[in-house]
Amino acid sequence: MNYLLQPKKYKSLMTDEGSRAIMNKTIAFFEKMGKTRLLDDYSKKVWYSEFVEFIGKEQIFARLLTPKKYAGGDPDCRWDTARNSEYSELLSFYGLGYWYCFQVTILGLGPIWMSRNEKAKQKAARLLKEGAIFAFGLSERDHGADIYSTETSLTPMPGGTWVANGEKYYIGNGNEAEMVSTLGKIKDGTDDYTFFVTNYRHKAYELKKNVVSHQEYVSNFALHDYPITEDDILSRGPHAWDSALNTVNIGKFNIGPGSIGVAQHCFYEAITHASNRILYGMRVTDMPHVRKNFMDAWLRLLGMKLYQRRATDYFRNSSQNDRRYLLYNPTSKMKVTLQAEEVISLLWEVIAAKGFEKDTYFHMAAADIMGPSKLEGTVHVNVQLIRKFMQNYFFNPTEYAPVAPDFSDNDDVFLFDQGPTRGLGKVQFHDYKGIFDEFRRLPNVDTFITQIGIFKELLEKAGPDKMQEMDPSWSLPLGEMFSIVVYGQLILEQARYPNLDPDILNQMFDFMVRDFAQFAMQIYGNHSSEDAQREYFVRIMLIKAVPDSEQYNRVWERYVSVLNGEYAMNE
Ligand SMILES: Cc1cc2nc3c(=O)[nH]c(=O)nc-3n(C[C@H](O)[C@H](O)[C@H](O)COP(=O)(O)OP(=O)(O)OC[C@H]3O[C@@H](n4cnc5c(N)ncnc54)[C@H](O)[C@@H]3O)c2cc1C
Repeated sequence: MNYLLQPKKYKSLMTDEGSRAIMNKTIAFFEKMGKTRLLDDYSKKVWYSEFVEFIGKEQIFARLLTPKKYAGGDPDCRWDTARNSEYSELLSFYGLGYWYCFQVTILGLGPIWMSRNEKAKQKAARLLKEGAIFAFGLSERDHGADIYSTETSLTPMPGGTWVANGEKYYIGNGNEAEMVSTLGKIKDGTDDYTFFVTNYRHKAYELKKNVVSHQEYVSNFALHDYPITEDDILSRGPHAWDSALNTVNIGKFNIGPGSIGVAQHCFYEAITHASNRILYGMRVTDMPHVRKNFMDAWLRLLGMKLYQRRATDYFRNSSQNDRRYLLYNPTSKMKVTLQAEEVISLLWEVIAAKGFEKDTYFHMAAADIMGPSKLEGTVHVNVQLIRKFMQNYFFNPTEYAPVAPDFSDNDDVFLFDQGPTRGLGKVQFHDYKGIFDEFRRLPNVDTFITQIGIFKELLEKAGPDKMQEMDPSWSLPLGEMFSIVVYGQLILEQARYPNLDPDILNQMFDFMVRDFAQFAMQIYGNHSSEDAQREYFVRIMLIKAVPDSEQYNRVWERYVSVLNGEYAMNE
C-alpha cells in the first residue's frame, strides 16, 4: 500500500469524471514536458507561459475556481476545497512555482467572490473561461504584515469616479493578471479600506520588476492616477477589511498541500537513490541511522497528509455556527509547512551531495521548501493566532454533529461569506479527549495522552503570567505544544477513515511524543520560567516514547523500503 501521491498510478479522491480529467490532464502535461525541461526552465527562471496556456485551454482554473452560480452551465465548475487541495498537491509535486500561480489566483479571486459587485463577478467568471490568471494586491514594501498602514489610495474625482495611486510589492502574477484585487484606503475623509480591481494592461499600471529571482513573477507595480469606476470597486469599509482577512484564510489553507506535494516527490527521489547506493559493500538504507531518517520522514509526511485531509472536512463544513476551521487552518499552515521542512532536511542528510545535483527535483525543492512557512503569516503570526483558541479548546468544549469525510460536489460558498473576523476566543471545539481515548490502546498514543494531561494541568495551575504571555520565547513554544495536540487529534480522527494500520499510527506518535518533549525543554530553559512551571516541563520532557523494534521494522519493510523505484518522472 502506497499512501503517497503516485502520478503514474494516480488515484484521485474525486469521484466525478470532470475532476479526474483535470488531474489526469495535468499529470500528462508535466510528464510530457519531462524532468529535463522542467528543471531547465526552473534553472533559467523561465516564466511558465506554456502552463498558463494549458490551464486556459483545458479550462482548469475556470472549473476549479468558479462557484456554480457563475458557471454558465459548465457542470464541472465548483469551488471545492478538497478538490483544490488535491490539485495544489499535484502542482507542487512538479514544482512550487506552478503551485504559486494557482495560489495567487485563488487569493485574487477571494475579494471578488466575496464582493457584492455582480458585474465584477460576471467579469471574473468570463475571464476565467478565457484562461486568465489573477492576483492579490495586498502587501506594500514598507509595511509587511501591518496592513493597517496601507498607503495605496483612492482619491475621489468628479462624477463619482476615483483615481488610484500607490505601490504594491510581492504581488504574484502581477505581470499578467487580468484582475488584480488591490487593497487601498479611500481619501474622502473616511480613510475606509477598499478593494478595487486593476489590470496589468492599463497604461496607468506600471509593472516595475519581479522582486524574486525565480520562475514565478512576484511583482512590484505602481499605480499612477489609475482610473477607477464604481464597477471596479469590490468592497469598502469593514467589508473590505474582512475580505482581506477572509481571503487570507482561504489562501492559507492551500499552502499545506503545496508543501505536501513537494515533500512527496523528494521522498521518491531520495529513497530510490539511497536504496541503490552501495557504500562499504552495503546498501545505504541498511545503515540504521539512514533507515531512521527515512522512517521519520515518511511518518511525518503521512501525518501531514492525514491532518490536512481531516482539516479539509472541517473547512468544507464550516458555518457561522461551526468556526472550528479557524484553529485547524493556522495549525495546518504552521505545522504542515514546518514538518515539510523537516522532511526535506531528514532526506537531505541521507542523500547529501545528490541533493545538489541540477538534474534532481530535490535541488529545486531544497531551495523552495523553506518558503511556504513564511508566506501568508509567518510561523510567529500563526502560533499567536492559534493560542487564542487554547483556553476554550482545553477547558470549554461543546458538542457538534459529527463531520464526515466530505467529497461531495458542493460549493464551499460559506468561505465567501465568513463574516466578521472577530471573536476567535469564543470559538468552541468538540472534546479532543474522545478520539485520543479511542486510540489509547496504542502505547505511544497513551504516552502522548499522559503528556497532554500534564500540559493541561500546567495551564490550570501554573500557566504563563502576563509578562510570559507577551514574551515570544515563552509563548511561542507553548503555542507549538498546543498545536501538536490539535495536530494529533485530527490525525487520529482521519486514521479512522482509511482504517490505517495501527503499526503506522503508533510509530507516528513516537515522533509526536519526542516533539512535545522538545518544546517543553525550550520553555524549561527560558530564564523567565518559574520553578513551579519547570516542574511540569520536566515531567513532560522525561516522558519517552515506547520502543517497539519489531513494529518499527514491519513499517519499514511494508511501507517505506518498498518505495525504492516506485516513481520517477519521465526524463
Ligand atoms: C514569494 C512571495 C510571494 C508573495 N506573494 C504575495 C501576494 O501575491 N500578494 C500579497 O499581497 N503579498 C504577497 N507576499 C507578501 C507576504 O504576504 C509578506 O511576506 C507578509 O505579508 C509578511 O510581510 P514580511 O515578510 O515583510 O514580514 P514583516 O511583516 O516585516 O514581519 C517581520 C517579523 O515580524 C513578525 N510579526 C509581524 N506581525 C506579527 C504579529 N502580529 N505577531 C507576531 N509576530 C509578527 C513576523 O513573524 C516577522 O518575523 C509574498 C511574499 C513573498 C516572499
